This record gives sequence, structure tokens and C-alpha cells, in this order.
Amino acid sequence: MNYPLRSRAALLTAFGVPTSVESVDVPQELEEGAILARVRRASVCGTDVHTWLGSGFTANQKNLPSIMGHEMVGEVVAFGDGPQVDSVGQTLAAGDRIVWTHAPCGRCYYCGVGRSPSLCLNRQSYGRVSVNTFPGLTGAFAEYCYVFPTSGRVKVPDEVPDDWAAPSSCALRTVVHLLERVGVIESHESVVVQGTGPLGLFAVAMLHHAGIQNITAIGAPGPRLEIAKAYGATQLISLEETPDPAVRAGLVRDATRGSRGADLVLEMSGAPQAYSEGLELLAPGGRFGVAGQTSSERVPVDPSLVVRKQLSVIGALSAHVGHYWKALEFLKESRGRFDWDAMLTRPTGLDGLTQAMQGMRNGVMKPLIDPQA
Ligand SMILES: [Zn+2]
Ligand SMILES: [Zn+2]
Repeated sequence: MNYPLRSRAALLTAFGVPTSVESVDVPQELEEGAILARVRRASVCGTDVHTWLGSGFTANQKNLPSIMGHEMVGEVVAFGDGPQVDSVGQTLAAGDRIVWTHAPCGRCYYCGVGRSPSLCLNRQSYGRVSVNTFPGLTGAFAEYCYVFPTSGRVKVPDEVPDDWAAPSSCALRTVVHLLERVGVIESHESVVVQGTGPLGLFAVAMLHHAGIQNITAIGAPGPRLEIAKAYGATQLISLEETPDPAVRAGLVRDATRGSRGADLVLEMSGAPQAYSEGLELLAPGGRFGVAGQTSSERVPVDPSLVVRKQLSVIGALSAHVGHYWKALEFLKESRGRFDWDAMLTRPTGLDGLTQAMQGMRNGVMKPLIDPQA
């Protein structure tokens, strides 16, 4: 493949207006350890929609114009100097498919002592850097993307198609990270998953795959709850049919041992009010894992519940490269068991990005983008 000079990219020039497909420079020099990747598939994340609308913590005027998107799978076009291996030690060659992480600095407290590179104080994040800042191509919604020297990278197993690999690099790896942080879940424990979008559905599937017997999914609309059921949810609570949170809490208590409430609640919906509800659904001594919240909206919370029920509240931001690897391994090992395509749409080109984001606001679950189309 010839080294490209220019790349088509969907640019965000102002919040809330349609993105426009423009031609931008491809960096002609790769730093040591960097990779130029050709994006084979990208998927739209709820965070992208918040960024687009200027409503999330990821939206910052000074980063415009930018290329949004951080869920992608690409193939290696060229390497900077240094070893041609991934973060698992597997050899990489031109044409190999990879997913990659945001770029931690490797030198701050959280990269080192804290062993939490997703909390890096100097992290460069895909989808948020101005296209006018080197290396320019740092978003998924473009033909090419620059893999930063410090970005973890993992070769995608042959068994995992592009359409699954793209969402694994955000939604699924975040679920993997959160489940790791909440710790061991015993098979008798009851789990509530709030939200039946990609995060919630991946969580239901991973819990089911791990042998958890009592999984309640709370969400809407009906077709998403049906997917949750197919992925292993043992009880469904429809937000449409049960709009009263107090009634939902009663249903959760009825479904748990001794009517105590849930041992673990996973907040995957991203709806700020779901955080307050999650605290109510928990049994005394319960754990609350929170990964979906990226909105800047504030809601009333009863903090005394944390003390009265002695709860543990555990957040997870993004993920470490090990979580990306585990996400891909899960997809490989569970293939045939879960119909992931039920969550996905047919890919559209970069021109279709605005419509895809609009669709997501109107209930489309996980739009796919083919930047080469
Ligand atoms: Zn995302
Ligand atoms: Zn750092």
C-alpha cells in the first residue's frame, strides 16, 4: 500500500451542527513507536453524541475543529522506528488488524505508582484533539488514524470481525474494566444492570458467560430488553411499562434473596437519574459499579444511603490495554453464543456520521461507520 498524503475525515467545526467531510494532511513522519493505521470500521459512542452537542465533559471549544470517535479497528499501514510488536508481545506486520488505547504519558503518578493509565494526568485522548495539533489524525471518523507511541495496541484475532472489534475498543473494554474493579462476583449473588444499550448488554452477556444466575436488566425499549434476555438476563424491567422508580425497586427486591435488594448494581445507562436509583436498588453491603455516566447534568442523590447501607461505589473510566485484550478474547471465546449483530447497524460512510449520531439520539443502538466507503 502506498503511503497516503491526505485523508478524508468527518470534522466537527462547531457543536451541534452537522460534521463535514474534508481532506486533511496525513503526518508524513511517524514518531518512534507510532503507527499509521487505515481505519477499517468505527462505531459511534454515546460520548461522541455528547461531544457533538457540546454537552459532555469531553466537549471543549478549544479542541475544534476535531475528528471525533474513539471506537475503531484499523490495519497497520506503516510503523515508526522501534519494535513491531503489540502490547501482548505478538509480532505486527503491515496489514495486521489492531485496536489501540488512548495515549497515557507513562511518566505521571497515575501511569506509574497508581498503575491506572486511564487516569493519566497528561493523557492524549482520541476524538478530542484539534486537527490542527500534530499529528492531526486522532479520531475514528477518518480514513486514517495515528496510533500514538504510548497507545497500547492489540492485534485483533482472526475470529473477531471488524464490526465487533470496533465497539469492543470502548463499550466492551469499559465493561471489562468495571467488572475487574468491582471484583469477584459469586454465582449466587444478584446483579442489576441499569441500561440496555451496548454497555449494559455487553455486561449482561459477560455476567451470564461467567455463570451469574440472577441478572436483572432495567431498560427500554422492548427490543433492547429482548436482546438482554437473549444475552442471559433472567428478569427484565421495562422503563416504559414500569415508569415509577419505587415500583422498579420493589420488583428488584422481589427478585433477590430475602428481598434484600441487589448485591451488585452496574450503572450502564448514562442517565444521571439512574445513579440515584441505583443506590436505592442495592442491598445493605452492596456494590455499585458506575461506568455509563459522562453527562454533565446534576441530579438529586441521597448520600446517606451509602452510609446506612454501607455501600461501595466504584467507578471505571476508559480502560487499560489489558482490558482491550480481554475484551477481544471474550468475543473470540464466546462467538456463536451471542448475536452481537443484533446491536449493530449496517455501516455507512463518513457522510452519514451526523445522521448516525442523530439516529443514536432517537434510539439506534450502535451505528457503524465505514470510513473507506
Ligand atoms: Zn466510547
Ligand atoms: Zn501519565
